[in-house]
Amino acid sequence: MDDQPDKRPKPKTGKSFLAGDIPLLHERAVECPYCGETFTINVDGSAGDQAYYEDCEICCRPILFHSEVDSDGNLLRLGVAREDD
Ligand SMILES: [Zn+2]
Repeated sequence: MDDQPDKRPKPKTGKSFLAGDIPLLHERAVECPYCGETFTINVDGSAGDQAYYEDCEICCRPILFHSEVDSDGNLLRLGVAREDD
């Protein structure tokens, strides 16, 4: 018989992700507005539209990200700006 959905209880082990709790992460390549280098970040689509700072992986300066997501958590747009813009 193959009618058993995989609904076994999942172990709660600290910070590990549990199935169903995994945020909608979208990997995007962005260009740093300071140094011009390109790197990839993960945007959490489940958090809705947001603006937040994340440091450039190359020059470590704070980049202001604006993400726009639709009601399904799909990333519509990701903008980057300098802190002093
Ligand atoms: Zn940079």
